[in-house]
Amino acid sequence: MKAIIFDFDGVIHDTYEMAYQINLKISGENLTREQHRDFFNGNIFEKVVVDEEKERAESEQFYELQNEAYKYLKIDENIKTNLEKLSKKYSLFIISSNQEEALDNYFQNNKFIHIFREILGAETHKSKVEKFKYLFEKYSLEADDCIFVTDTLGDILEGNKVGVKTIAVDFGFHKKDRLEKGNPFKIVSSFEEITEVINNLQ
Ligand SMILES: [Mg+2]
Repeated sequence: MKAIIFDFDGVIHDTYEMAYQINLKISGENLTREQHRDFFNGNIFEKVVVDEEKERAESEQFYELQNEAYKYLKIDENIKTNLEKLSKKYSLFIISSNQEEALDNYFQNNKFIHIFREILGAETHKSKVEKFKYLFEKYSLEADDCIFVTDTLGDILEGNKVGVKTIAVDFGFHKKDRLEKGNPFKIVSSFEEITEVINNLQ
């Protein structure tokens, strides 16, 4: 094991309620939590779009509201401690569908940007599969050298496509029963458990 690749939303930071409330507002109060959770069953950018112009405007509005809210997010101290420990033994990366701009701001505001070798978001590619391939190539990694940590079924499925093992966390956007559908390597409920599973892999 050489590298740990983290998803951001729902793993490093619990942004579920924030994301739901923004989407609820944009949808004109017409979106259930279940419909919102379904967005993440596959790649978020592959959902069926009826009106492209409306979708583009809504997406812009989402990022505008989200990026403002991100300015005030404080990283959880326990997560920070665990990431610091892991960074001493492994290279840490982020692969997210969120904007790199928002993630960079988050880690800069929390003075924690140095912990990751690279943060890849939507600006690099909309497909996580392509972002995995980019990391493997750039850092001379095999899928077996890496473990992916995420909170959604869609992400597990993208990890499966490149043959990377996934540790799914059940404290994010998706609950255990949905995560199981992607057949992840392990499902855990805390950052301590993530560290434990990784240490046992060696
Ligand atoms: Mg996530």
